[in-house]
Amino acid sequence: MPKYIFITGGVISSLGKGIASASIGKLLESRGLTVSVIKCDPYINVDAGTMNPYQHGEVYVTRDGAETDLDLGHYERFTNAELTKDANVTTGKIYHAVITKERRGDYLGKTVQVIPHITDEIKTSIRRVTHNRKTDVCIVEIGGTVGDIESLPFLEAIRQMELEEGLGNSINIHLTLVPFIKTAGELKTKPTQHSVGKLREIGMQPDILLCRCERVLSRQLKEKIALFCNVHPEAVIPALDASTIYEIPLLFSKAKLEKLILKLFDIKGKTTGFLRQWEAKVVRRIKHPKHSTRIAVVGKYITLQDAYKSIYEALIHGGITHNTKVEIKKVDSEDIQKRGAAQLLGDVSGILIPGGFGYRGIEGKIQAIQYARENNIPFFGICLGMQTAVIEFARNICGLAGANSSEFDSKTKYPVISLLSEQKSVKFKGGTMRLGSYDCELKKNTKTYQAYKKAKISERHRHRYEFNNEYRKLMEDNGFVIAGTHPQKNLVEIIELKDHPFFIACQFHPEFQSKPDAAHPIFAAFIKASLK
Ligand code: GLN
Repeated sequence: MPKYIFITGGVISSLGKGIASASIGKLLESRGLTVSVIKCDPYINVDAGTMNPYQHGEVYVTRDGAETDLDLGHYERFTNAELTKDANVTTGKIYHAVITKERRGDYLGKTVQVIPHITDEIKTSIRRVTHNRKTDVCIVEIGGTVGDIESLPFLEAIRQMELEEGLGNSINIHLTLVPFIKTAGELKTKPTQHSVGKLREIGMQPDILLCRCERVLSRQLKEKIALFCNVHPEAVIPALDASTIYEIPLLFSKAKLEKLILKLFDIKGKTTGFLRQWEAKVVRRIKHPKHSTRIAVVGKYITLQDAYKSIYEALIHGGITHNTKVEIKKVDSEDIQKRGAAQLLGDVSGILIPGGFGYRGIEGKIQAIQYARENNIPFFGICLGMQTAVIEFARNICGLAGANSSEFDSKTKYPVISLLSEQKSVKFKGGTMRLGSYDCELKKNTKTYQAYKKAKISERHRHRYEFNNEYRKLMEDNGFVIAGTHPQKNLVEIIELKDHPFFIACQFHPEFQSKPDAAHPIFAAFIKASLK
């Protein structure tokens, strides 16, 4: 029988519920328990794939090809939980399932209602994850903030689950804010009291409060929160701002959070060395680097903190491998169009072009690639970053003036990036890209092979367009190296340049498989190259 931890958030969004959930997963694994993690998102989109980064931040892709919330990235980076499409439950998915059943006649004769039909479907979706996978503790994060109209059915569903799972089998954790008010010189507990009040209005009592605060919570304040919110003082856990997110499991552990969880569940748990290893191999290395490097990420969503989340994290992981602090310079590709690449990229030791959609900013990316190629600056292109590298090479080296991707110019004379025939017939936008893990075979004697140290790899995809094999020979003759292909369909997955210190671009998204204690091989190699 799995135990459940339900995590809700109050006061404001962006308190770091995803990282808190991931950190709790890490803590429980450090006690020898197997965890599953689920994110419930109250929006009506079936998945995050149809939202743009300004709305949603990064779309995180699971190995089975689900386009999900970026919090799943935190879960995979912190824990060993294997996440699939079931790990992201949205209102859209729930209604889709219920309406499909209604049309089929499964509820014949009944009025279909939020309670019980929607809430039952939510409970079934949550339990499905633990049925499919051996789980000691299932962590369920509810997106949004308590008090939002749209999260109500999810909160009602977990209220029912708490009852159904029985005493001692579920824990309710609420993440709140204890703001410091400068003019009063004090931490204020009222927002937390109101937030817990809101939870209690809908019949839920938190067992543990995680209190985000920028100052230490005094004993008196903890007791005050405990009294007004009806939780035990030892269950008022401060969640202080940390210098790196990877330190949060250690800070929670210091506050005895996992001990408290084990006590509430009445389970013993083993002692493993996992947390100590994490501290030595991850946190200490981030805090005390020996080298530093500056990497430019040239994208069009750089003003947004979350749009390239996994890429920023994977760069940090590459830095951890080489004891290096990675300073990320976020460069707007449209600024390169206006001010020139030399002006904006003259002070960096590596250039990364991330994925993206649509023509805006493309020409700036192409200029950045040309600059990296001509000036021997380590270059790493991801997805659209590979496609733009192909366009740059076709135009500037192979003499194919006007070469483009058919995504940006459907009439180009040289469609070096184009749609496969199977994509041409696609009519619906949702969930129809090339998604999830695909095999890739690496060519020996390439930099990519040196990085992976093996020939067969598997990486996650999210794109519609592909390298057009009609131009393969011409490009290879001009110094392009096809370093990796998807064997079954002969699709180009990785390209390199022969005469360049480090120029690798891949059609897949390696950032989704990078972990702080096991950096993705290309990210690690890229950081290493940037140090030379
Ligand atoms: N827009 C490109 C495509 O659909 C690249 C997608 C991406 O970078 N994720 O193929």
